[in-house]
Amino acid sequence: MQQTPIVKINPEHPEPELIRLAATVLRKGGLVAFPTETVYGLGALALEEDKVQKIFSAKGRPTQNPLIVHVVDEAMAKSVCAIWPKTAQVIAEKLWPGPLTLILPKHKRVPMIVTAGLSTVAVRCPAHPVARALLHELNSPLAAPSANLYSEISPTRAAHVHKGLSGRIDLILDGGPASYGVESTVLDLTGPKPTILRPGTILQSQLEKLIGHVAVICEQVPDDVARASPGQSRKHYAPKALVSLIPHGDQGCLNDRVQRVLKSKGRVGVLLLSPLQLTQEGVMVRRLPPLASEYAAALYHVLHDLEDAGCSHILIEQVPEDEAWAAVRDRIERAVAQ
Ligand code: AMP
Ligand code: MG
Repeated sequence: MQQTPIVKINPEHPEPELIRLAATVLRKGGLVAFPTETVYGLGALALEEDKVQKIFSAKGRPTQNPLIVHVVDEAMAKSVCAIWPKTAQVIAEKLWPGPLTLILPKHKRVPMIVTAGLSTVAVRCPAHPVARALLHELNSPLAAPSANLYSEISPTRAAHVHKGLSGRIDLILDGGPASYGVESTVLDLTGPKPTILRPGTILQSQLEKLIGHVAVICEQVPDDVARASPGQSRKHYAPKALVSLIPHGDQGCLNDRVQRVLKSKGRVGVLLLSPLQLTQEGVMVRRLPPLASEYAAALYHVLHDLEDAGCSHILIEQVPEDEAWAAVRDRIERAVAQ
């Protein structure tokens, strides 16, 4: 395939003719990358197996990793679920559209390939106007994982999608940077108690205010084991560089680690949160904002950037322990765990 075209689209008021163009590509079985408020998604019509198959081929994604089904409203959500419990109703009313994915019993009309053979389905109602306009136009759900090659960093800009998937997909809608920058919170409502499978922008405490106690599992499983959540895959959020953590504010440790990489002729990128200083030449320093939401929005872009600059090692200063940082901590820990 030739290079994939990138088409700029207005992120607030998407041009109807561009939405129609993207919908036509999707109806013909093509793959379209589009902006959402979390990261860019790679969409295919969710109810058509042959179309969904192409997502796995384009990404090189193992078929045991289920996909999130994107819907425009509650009615569309109900059409892909066998059961719509009261908890889903309460949560959807308050937090949809938004960066929250619910795991629910799957309706039989959803092909098995979407759910990797599971009897449950992941459903999300995105808030981004481009994603919503596309779903409206199609009047049908879209299966959409993040628009990157399997095991690489999620894309928060059209250029990241292009870097990973150009020539493998049919169209990229460029709606500018994604505002949240980390993937949705995934909440499983099919077990004995509601459980967060992947932390995201929607916090445990927000969910607990609505439905009472919510458990969290963050354990990572090996890549060859079938998993409840593909987000639990160790390599899921890893850059190619070797990533390690620096204790917060520890100038001595930072200096030592940087020296060690430079001695081994490596190229080092550093993500800082506090006013630590680096004077060595050739070290790429990126200072990230101290607010969790702003840090999250910048994180993947900075990692892409350092990867593109050829960094062999990335040192990340540890982020705070509090809840607001849960999603960022989770993604950083996964990047380190490879
Ligand atoms: P991504 O590939 O980045 O879009 O991530 C897909 C996410 O979908 C994973 O992190 C999973 O948590 C979630 N997911 C999709 N389907 C299921 C399912 N049936 N059960 C549990 N998690 C799911
Ligand atoms: Mg992904």
